Amino acid sequence: MKKVVVITTGGTIAMKYDSVTKGLVPAVSGEDLIEAVPELADVAEVEVVEFSNVPSGHVTPKMMFELAKLADKYAAKEEVSGIVITHGTDTQEETIYLLSLLLDTGKPVCITGAMRGASEMGPDGPANILAAVKVAACKEAVGRGAMLVFNDEVHAAAEVTKTHTTSCSTFASPGWGPIGHVYFDKVVFRRQPENLQKIKTEVIEEDVYLIKTVAGLDDYLFKCLAAKPVKGIVVEALGCGNVPLGVKQGIEYVRSCGIPVVLASRVHTGRVVPAYSYEGSAVSMAASNIILAGELTGQKARIKLMLVLGITKDVDAIRKYFN
Ligand code: ASP
Repeated sequence: MKKVVVITTGGTIAMKYDSVTKGLVPAVSGEDLIEAVPELADVAEVEVVEFSNVPSGHVTPKMMFELAKLADKYAAKEEVSGIVITHGTDTQEETIYLLSLLLDTGKPVCITGAMRGASEMGPDGPANILAAVKVAACKEAVGRGAMLVFNDEVHAAAEVTKTHTTSCSTFASPGWGPIGHVYFDKVVFRRQPENLQKIKTEVIEEDVYLIKTVAGLDDYLFKCLAAKPVKGIVVEALGCGNVPLGVKQGIEYVRSCGIPVVLASRVHTGRVVPAYSYEGSAVSMAASNIILAGELTGQKARIKLMLVLGITKDVDAIRKYFN
C-alpha cells in the first residue's frame, strides 16, 4: 500500500464552533482530522505530522518556506509516495504557489482544507482530505508540480485562486480550469501545467508589499513604503497594466529609490501586456525599469518576488524570473 504524509497547519478544517466566542476556533488535532476519514485506510497508509494549528491568516511567508522544507524532508523518504498539506483556505493559494517554486521533490504535493468547520452541517474537510490523499498517492500526479485539491478538483498552483467567501466550490483557475478531477475510483488528469518554474533560494525576503490600484489613487502609499524602505513592491494595476497618474509618479519615485516594482493586474484573468503607450500605461513606465508579472495575481507575484529577492536584488536579474 502507498504511504502519504499529511502535514497539518490549521484552518477551518481543524476548527469547531465555540459558543463562548461565538465563532469557529482551532480545536481539532492532526490525528483527529485523519480519524474522521476512515476511508483513507483503503487508499494509503497515512502518517500525520502537525506543523501548526493556526488560521491561514496567521501563516507567514517564512512559515510557508519552512513548510516547503518539511514537505521535501518527508518526500525524500523512499517509502513516501506523496504529501498532503491541510491549510486554511484564505492564504492557501499563496502557500501552494510558494511550495511549487521551492520544492525539490517531483512527488505529488497537494494542499487542501475546508470551507465548513468540523462541527458544521455537512463539513467538506473529510471529503477534501480523502480526495487530496487519492491524488498524492496516484502515479499520474507525479511531475505535475504542487497542486491544490478541493471539491474533487485538482488545480495548478500558479493558476488557482479563491473566488468565493463561503462556497465549498470556492477554488477555481480562471481562464484555465482544473488540471484534473477526482472520482470515487480514480483521479483523471486532462492537462499538464506548463509553468513549473523553480526558484532555488535558501532565504526569503519578507519585506515586500502589495498595493492595489483604485481610481484616483495617488503616490502617498509609495512614499510611505519608500521611507521604510521596503525591499520590493508589487502593484496590482488596472486592466492590462495601466495606473492613474498619481500611481505612475509613486512608481517612478520608489524606482528612483532603487526599490524593485512588479506590475500585476487587479483583473483576475489574463496577462499584463504593454498594449498602450499613454501616460500611466506599462509602456509609459518602461524607463523606470519595472517588471511585468505576466499572468500572476498580485498575491502570487509578491510571493515570487520574495523568493527571487533571496537570490538577487538586481532588477534585470529579477525580471528574468518573471519572463
Ligand atoms: N479563515 C480560515 C483560514 O483561512 C478559512 C478557511 O480555512 O477556510 O484559516
